[in-house]
Amino acid sequence: MEGSSLQAGKLQGVASHRRLLVIASSFYFAWWFAVELFLPGAFNPVGSRMAVVAVILVGLAATYWSEWCHRNARFLFYGTAWLITLHYYYLFYGNHGTTNWILGCYITVMAINLCFLSRAALMAYSIFVFLLSVLLVLSLPELAQSVFFPGLITIVLQGNMRLNARLHLIQTLEDSNVRFQSLFDSTFEGIVVHEGGKIIDINEAGARLFRATRDEMVGKEILDIVHPERREQVAAKMQLADTLAYETIILAKDGTPVEIELRAKSLRYDNRPARIVTLQEISDRKRAERETIAALAMAENVRLRDEFISIASHELRTPLTALKLQIQMMDRDSGNNSLSQYTPDRLRAVIRLFLRQTDRLTELVESMLDVSRVSKGRLELDRQMLDLSGLVREVAETLLPDAIRDGKLTMRLEPVFTNGDRTRLKQVVENLITNATKYGESKPLEISVFADANDAVLTVADHGIGIASEFTRRIFNRFERAVSPKNIAGLGLGLYICRQIVEAHSGAISVESDLGKGSTFRVQLPRK
Ligand code: ADP
Repeated sequence: MEGSSLQAGKLQGVASHRRLLVIASSFYFAWWFAVELFLPGAFNPVGSRMAVVAVILVGLAATYWSEWCHRNARFLFYGTAWLITLHYYYLFYGNHGTTNWILGCYITVMAINLCFLSRAALMAYSIFVFLLSVLLVLSLPELAQSVFFPGLITIVLQGNMRLNARLHLIQTLEDSNVRFQSLFDSTFEGIVVHEGGKIIDINEAGARLFRATRDEMVGKEILDIVHPERREQVAAKMQLADTLAYETIILAKDGTPVEIELRAKSLRYDNRPARIVTLQEISDRKRAERETIAALAMAENVRLRDEFISIASHELRTPLTALKLQIQMMDRDSGNNSLSQYTPDRLRAVIRLFLRQTDRLTELVESMLDVSRVSKGRLELDRQMLDLSGLVREVAETLLPDAIRDGKLTMRLEPVFTNGDRTRLKQVVENLITNATKYGESKPLEISVFADANDAVLTVADHGIGIASEFTRRIFNRFERAVSPKNIAGLGLGLYICRQIVEAHSGAISVESDLGKGSTFRVQLPRK
């Protein structure tokens, strides 16, 4: 398990065995030069020395490029130790076991003994040395008379005693690692440690969040296990060195999205700069939140719909009542045979009343149809390049001829072109101008059209009742009104339709207003 390589036997890790390989080879070189210097005529063939050096260096290099050698660095070290010893005995044999070489042999065996980190390795080495020594004594019988054997056995025993102390230390470390690991694994929160975005450790709770095992998770890139839509967010956060807390979505092994809350901070892990991240699943909480929001939205929709039905019925009834009254009167007059009293002028007035009321009815029904069209996403635009100021002038002249004549409307219109749907944009302008007169308390109005860096801008300003700040965003929603229906009639649909039309043109609509002082509506439409 990769995770446990962080715990058990850190001392026996690749780095320490690499270090031992370097020590062994340095020791070997030192001995090589010492022999050249102090025992110039000794048996010491260059070929065998070179072979041993080559094996050590190749072994060391292999721990960097071969995954297998990396994992088995300690066997490389053991092999090297045995090889150096074997070579030493070969030279020893060639030099007929002279006293200098007995000393060299002790030093070699002692140095190698001290480097072993496990009892099994030391035992195997001791047996190897013992067998080599027996072979040597058999082939060089005069050695049996020397201190060769007792000295060798003393050195091996000393090495063993030192090993005991070292093993105790390793055991203590392993115990504390096991304790750490069980704590690491028993938290409710998932814990991930990553280095530059690559997971180097993860606890069981963390792996469970990904519905995977620890082995499957270690080595993975963080961004590969984040939901594609959130990768940019997470990548940006990973650039920040500070402590962070945010919500995001990860992908379980089977691709299921899992919503999580995470906290991250930097630390030094295994002596390298890394980030520790704690994860907590919040899918259930998020689902509950979404359900609550949906329920609230539904309740709000029902409230708005009821309010709308009551406002709409009121609005429809007003023109209908006027129509009905007039028709009833004419009906009564026709029953009394008094239709003759309808002079042409009076008849024209009645017809104008009929037309006004039917126009109002048509307008109301049109608004409702428009709302149903835009909320079903069926707002189709028939675009063409048009001059916004020309369109505004046309609407203002139709709707407000009196205000223009009386100087109550100031227009500042610069020609600005936009690619839009003439009929729809006309509807927006009509709506804003109608509202400005409806809520403007008959005070002067100002309309301007100009170009800013990217947009064609239309502003319609009045000095009327204004809008309280809590309503300035809401009035662009369906059925939302900032006034009581008792005061000023309306369906609360006009600005909603305006917003939909403007947004369909990739533009924006907003208002700045002071309650009691007036409002300025601003429409921005892209110029290109
Ligand atoms: P309606 O005018 O039919 O109510 P709108 O959607 O056009 O619907 O407007 C929504 C609300 O915004 C209005 O009810 C009104 O409260 C507020 N409003 C719109 N224009 C103005 C304005 N020029 N001045 C003050 N309030 C306004």
